[in-house]
Amino acid sequence: MKRITLLSFMLSILIVATGCGSQAGENASSAQATMAKPTPAADAPASVSVGPSSATSNSTTPLQQARVPAQDISALPVLYYHSVKVEQGNELCMPPNQLREQMNYLKEHGYQTISPAQMASFLKGEGILPEHPVLITFDDGYANNYTDAYPILKEFGFTATVFMISGALDSSGFLSTRQIQELSTNGWTIGGHTKNHEHLPQLDAAHQAQEMKDSKAVLEQKLGRPVSVFAYPYGEYNAQVKKAVQDDGYALAFTTERGWAKQGADPLLLHRVYLYANMGLQEFQRRIENPNY
Ligand SMILES: [Zn+2]
Repeated sequence: MKRITLLSFMLSILIVATGCGSQAGENASSAQATMAKPTPAADAPASVSVGPSSATSNSTTPLQQARVPAQDISALPVLYYHSVKVEQGNELCMPPNQLREQMNYLKEHGYQTISPAQMASFLKGEGILPEHPVLITFDDGYANNYTDAYPILKEFGFTATVFMISGALDSSGFLSTRQIQELSTNGWTIGGHTKNHEHLPQLDAAHQAQEMKDSKAVLEQKLGRPVSVFAYPYGEYNAQVKKAVQDDGYALAFTTERGWAKQGADPLLLHRVYLYANMGLQEFQRRIENPNY
């Protein structure tokens, strides 16, 4: 049985390494939940963590821009991507040139990335934020987050958070230990996304706890720092899953529910903005400029 599970997991890794999952769309997460063995990338609309104290620690920090008290901002967008590559017919895969267009749009319109730590303060109405704050996240931990997304974001002085499937670390198509360490020392945050990307609400409490704890322990050991943000695989959670996240000491947890993260919101049930291939800049703009898009 164990062998079958392992084989099936390895197979899903292979599938993911060559693709980005099979479905997408704002409501794909529930459809995915019924599939026999979805690929890790399938959590379209869904995830977070609190990592380094500042996401703006890059040497590329742009010109001095207006900063405002967090209490003056009612909500902010948390973007989420998965794989960054060209794959026809799979909107979960964001082509690098489209990611660059979107980052360029953010830069030209005065947006600055914030860290999960800044996000945690914001939720409590504390701290100072850029006038146009945005939190960028990537789910699953694809190698192209390092080879493609990282250099693109760097061009614009942006940082992001990667929710890493710890069981996929150092596997083909996924980030390596060295890569997550480099991202982490360069202002990016590595968050938890469980060990095997299971459907957490379908597991018993013991299995859930194991999926969570193994993942957190491995990432913290590799990074040498606390891992305090989490994204629910497939965006799926229930009261028991949320409690496990809380018991593990995560400060922030992200869902795939649509909308911006609002000040005063439950830090373990944060909404995110889904972005997909070929959405066009106009739709991108609509989603990052309207809290109720
Ligand atoms: Zn995922």
